[in-house]
Amino acid sequence: MNILCVGAGLSGAVIGRHLAEAGHQITVVDSRSHAGGNCHTERDADTGVMVHVYGPHIFHTDDAEVWDYVNRFETFKPYKNRVKSTTRGLTGEQEVFSLPVNLHTINQFFRKTMRPEEAHDFIVNEQADTSIENPETFEEQAMRFVGKDLYEAFFKGYTIKQWGMHPSELPASILKRLPVRFNYDDNYFFHQFQGMPENGYTPMIEKILEHENITVKLETEFTPETGAEYDHVFYSGPLDGYFGYELGRLGYRTLDFERFTHQGDYQGCAVMNYGEEEVPFTRITEHKHFAPWEEHEGSVLYREFSRLAEPGDIPYYPIRQVKEKALLADYVKLAEQTAGVTFVGRLATYRYLDMDVTIREALDAARGFAACLEKGEAAPAFFTAPL
Ligand SMILES: Cc1cc2nc3c(=O)[nH]c(=O)nc-3n(C[C@H](O)[C@H](O)[C@H](O)COP(=O)(O)OP(=O)(O)OC[C@H]3O[C@@H](n4cnc5c(N)ncnc54)[C@H](O)[C@@H]3O)c2cc1C
Repeated sequence: MNILCVGAGLSGAVIGRHLAEAGHQITVVDSRSHAGGNCHTERDADTGVMVHVYGPHIFHTDDAEVWDYVNRFETFKPYKNRVKSTTRGLTGEQEVFSLPVNLHTINQFFRKTMRPEEAHDFIVNEQADTSIENPETFEEQAMRFVGKDLYEAFFKGYTIKQWGMHPSELPASILKRLPVRFNYDDNYFFHQFQGMPENGYTPMIEKILEHENITVKLETEFTPETGAEYDHVFYSGPLDGYFGYELGRLGYRTLDFERFTHQGDYQGCAVMNYGEEEVPFTRITEHKHFAPWEEHEGSVLYREFSRLAEPGDIPYYPIRQVKEKALLADYVKLAEQTAGVTFVGRLATYRYLDMDVTIREALDAARGFAACLEKGEAAPAFFTAPL
């Protein structure tokens, strides 16, 4: 079959590769001038630093098939994400703490030397607000779990900046369980496999796309008319965009990156969060620390600001509140009435997806499509339901 994949990010590349290996002719189009989607990396010409152009990306997964898959196309170097945060301590002075909130953070914040059980009892019995029986908001949930001091220092300001909403307006479900650790483990992720592609994500995704049955067309905008020339379309662009936003726009947060350079080491770590509400940015990322096996004198940094996406902005984080989900349901109905198109990936299913989940879903979609062909059935609009 002649198949069109819209988007040269992980979704389009993995689906395209799988179907190309099965003998189909694949065309991959992307409106951008590079492959890689939002995982795109690029070496800075002046400093030689590998820059995560659309924000920092750390690969982490428990999915062994996905881990084997990415290692087939690129060497992964060991990398653990260890995040720091500035915020005001109990004295009101700005200090640097370890994240996620762990035993080191708790001991430093409260000026104590507690062991794990002592810290657990201290947080649960002396800090947590147990008068809140059925927390409904993010704020109530955080107050009930960790109490006012840690909530205000580490969760409140950051959340307001990240989501543009007060935690009292966000649902409790965002904080599902006790968001602190009572040991000194400061590895941000729990996953078994964690790492960073030695040469960046874009060369890895370009290698996925390198197959005799795949043609890649960059700087090529998809239109439904182009889609009609193919036997099937896998679309990884924005769901509302496919339908010309005819029902309205799905809400997203976007990010503005204020890029700056520095001679030497600016902050000594890859990610420094800013928990204080009065600091307008959420974090600073120093890209050379994502490749600790490389040495660079110069440094490239991003100050990251979050705001509501306007038409024309890059959509980063889907908002997915009640209003957005109602609109999403309407777009899902439209998609289900559209023959010959399968909607895939983070934008077309309007979900935040880590890279490993994106690859898992792309492999499942490609296999699901092959199974439909075998049975003589039409492929569905979604292999993973957006709602
Ligand atoms: C700030 C940020 C940080 C992240 N950090 C991590 C992390 O640390 N670890 C992790 O696992 N995941 C992370 N992710 C998630 C990761 O970015 C996604 O999993 C991944 O990008 C999803 O790939 P995709 O192919 O579905 O979408 P995308 O990467 O967005 O690719 C879609 C492509 O489609 C193209 N396109 C869209 N519409 C059209 C059109 N009409 N015509 C032609 N082309 C079109 C776009 O140009 C884009 O290249 C992060 C995401 C964000 C927002």
